[in-house]
Amino acid sequence: MADLVIKDLHVSVENKEILKGLSLTVKSGERHALMGPNGNGKSTLLAAIMGNPKYTVTSGSITLDGKDVLQMSVDERSKAGLFLGMQYPSVVSGVTNSDFLRSAMNARLEKPISLFKFIKEMDKAIEQLEMKKDLAHRFLNDGFSGGEKKRNEIVQMMMLKPSIAMLDEIDSGLDVDALRIVSDAINQCQKQTDLGLLIVSHYARFYEYLQPTHAHVLMDGQIVVSGDASLVEKVDQEGYEWIEKEYHVTA
Ligand code: ADP
Ligand code: MG
Ligand code: MG
Repeated sequence: MADLVIKDLHVSVENKEILKGLSLTVKSGERHALMGPNGNGKSTLLAAIMGNPKYTVTSGSITLDGKDVLQMSVDERSKAGLFLGMQYPSVVSGVTNSDFLRSAMNARLEKPISLFKFIKEMDKAIEQLEMKKDLAHRFLNDGFSGGEKKRNEIVQMMMLKPSIAMLDEIDSGLDVDALRIVSDAINQCQKQTDLGLLIVSHYARFYEYLQPTHAHVLMDGQIVVSGDASLVEKVDQEGYEWIEKEYHVTA
């Protein structure tokens, strides 16, 4: 049972305060939808949780199962069970996708995974995401299409088996079929490992597939309103203006 607890988090980027006292808890088995107008700090939150050094935590706390995440390196956060599926995954030339993944997996395991088992698992994940077979042997994200990059983030998630996964607009740029394939894979992974999910997306269709148990709107650096899946529907139909009026915030 994993338990990610964020309390009164303040985060600055280039000396500008972006998160202004954000609190949120995500537990195993929960699926949280995180919405909000562009530029309000959703990606900043995820980057700060994963430990991207561009994002400075000025106060507040982040713990995973009671352990202080802010004291951990990015690698340690990954080992502790956190995963970030990124909006714009970076290209790593010279490192094949499979080498990258195997070393990431081995870094987390007591005993290295056998090559045989690794290849079997990777083939299975690639097949489930209906990706080209040669993907394993290509340099990480190099020449991958937008959709392939996103699918590849989910391949990584399936193999690393995190306890809490954060997905940053992983659905953007996916066509209808790819969206379903990616959603099915996320759902299967979620059920098999009782994964806790923090999902950033603008699209109700993605959330329909993923069936959030909780939903939040982030505006002006804080979570302004939380609820259940009906909040996703309301935002989809009415936008954010009603929240600005009702809660006296400006996006
Ligand atoms: P969202 O994901 O909700 O669209 P972001 O977290 O990306 O919002 O951005 C919040 C604010 O922080 C924006 O004003 C953005 O310009 C700024 N910001 C985010 N990341 C960086 C960065 N790496 N360098 C400079 N400014 C950034
Ligand atoms: Mg505060
Ligand atoms: Mg963003």
